[in-house]
Amino acid sequence: MNGSDLAKVLTRAVARAFYETRHVLIIECLLNYSALRDDDLAYLIGMNTKDLHKVCAKLKEDRLLEVYTRPELKEGQTRPVNRTYYWIDFQHTVDAVKWRVYKIDKEMQGTAVPASERKEYFCNFCKASWTQMEVLDNFSAQGFLCHTCNHVLVHDADRHAVGHQKSTRMNNQFKFITDLLPQIDSVGIPEKTFDEAYANARVVERSETHQAVNSVAVETGLNRPTAVKGLANTGPTSLAVSISTGDGPSEEEKAAEQERRDRISKQNALPEWMTVSATNANEKFVLDDKTSSAQVQLKKGENDGNTAKKDALDAKEQADLDDYMARLKAEQAAEAARKAAEEEEEYESGDEDEVDFEDVAPGSGTSTEATSPNAGTPAVDGPPAKKIKMEEEAAPAPADEDDEEDDLEFEDV
Ligand SMILES: [Zn+2]
Repeated sequence: MNGSDLAKVLTRAVARAFYETRHVLIIECLLNYSALRDDDLAYLIGMNTKDLHKVCAKLKEDRLLEVYTRPELKEGQTRPVNRTYYWIDFQHTVDAVKWRVYKIDKEMQGTAVPASERKEYFCNFCKASWTQMEVLDNFSAQGFLCHTCNHVLVHDADRHAVGHQKSTRMNNQFKFITDLLPQIDSVGIPEKTFDEAYANARVVERSETHQAVNSVAVETGLNRPTAVKGLANTGPTSLAVSISTGDGPSEEEKAAEQERRDRISKQNALPEWMTVSATNANEKFVLDDKTSSAQVQLKKGENDGNTAKKDALDAKEQADLDDYMARLKAEQAAEAARKAAEEEEEYESGDEDEVDFEDVAPGSGTSTEATSPNAGTPAVDGPPAKKIKMEEEAAPAPADEDDEEDDLEFEDV
């Protein structure tokens, strides 16, 4: 195995040993795909991009992955958007693992008791325990003796050696890391950049329902700051101008014009109530194409008094009325909302009054108490109301206390 393969084994093992499943999945994807855009990675592990960024931020902080951002142009758009990629720089990751193992080991050493303070001699008679320095001056042929009862002491180095045990356990548990690290160091890890990782990246195969829009990296050369690579539709597209020769409009244009005229005349056709007399349904105006609506009205006026004009007026009035009704409705709704808000305020203030009232006159023989079946126990309604009142009064008190505390703290400082 070369350095990269060993580093992969280490990264995989560390992720699985110390991280949650989602972290493990992300690392596994990156190990398999080399480099992944955030939305592709989110698609692979079935997570939304926002959550993915959070999870990856944690891994980034721990140096298990790297983040690379570059402007990209989506197909069919003119403004580049920053896209985020994730990849693993094994040199960074291995260094981070080394550092953390070193730190944990240091912490373990810190908890271990120094040899001079370690109590290794125990008295089975009085249950006392002693350090080596303490018992050196009191010995017999059988061994060191207890200072309190002079019984022979038992030597047991491991009984109180918690730190040492912890350290041993840690070394056993970290064996998969500590064994790999020197191997990796001996072969070395080749340096890798994002571009190399991206060049080796496997393409994410998406299902048909989850296709992503293609986007292409914007070239960020200094000499061509606005240059765009790869897309055909970014420049000005060719303008096609067709010039129709001939004297008049073509057959197509004529047909289109005729169609337009038909449509407009249909829109302008008189409604039925204008063509049928209101007084006599049998009386009907027959329109031919040449009569304009003005002529019709005129004719109608001659034939049948002013009904047509009146109908037209009615229509206008109806429209006005509808408009007025709509406005009235809106106004009424606003008024109702305002009233409701007022009532709510009144109700709330009324509530307070009630509490005050019950507080003032509990059991003072009001008419309700006198007539109610509970007259014998007039205090039933009283105390709860009083309690509420007291709670209300008591409520501001903690705030005052807080202030006092704050003041005190301030004075302390
Ligand atoms: Zn003893």
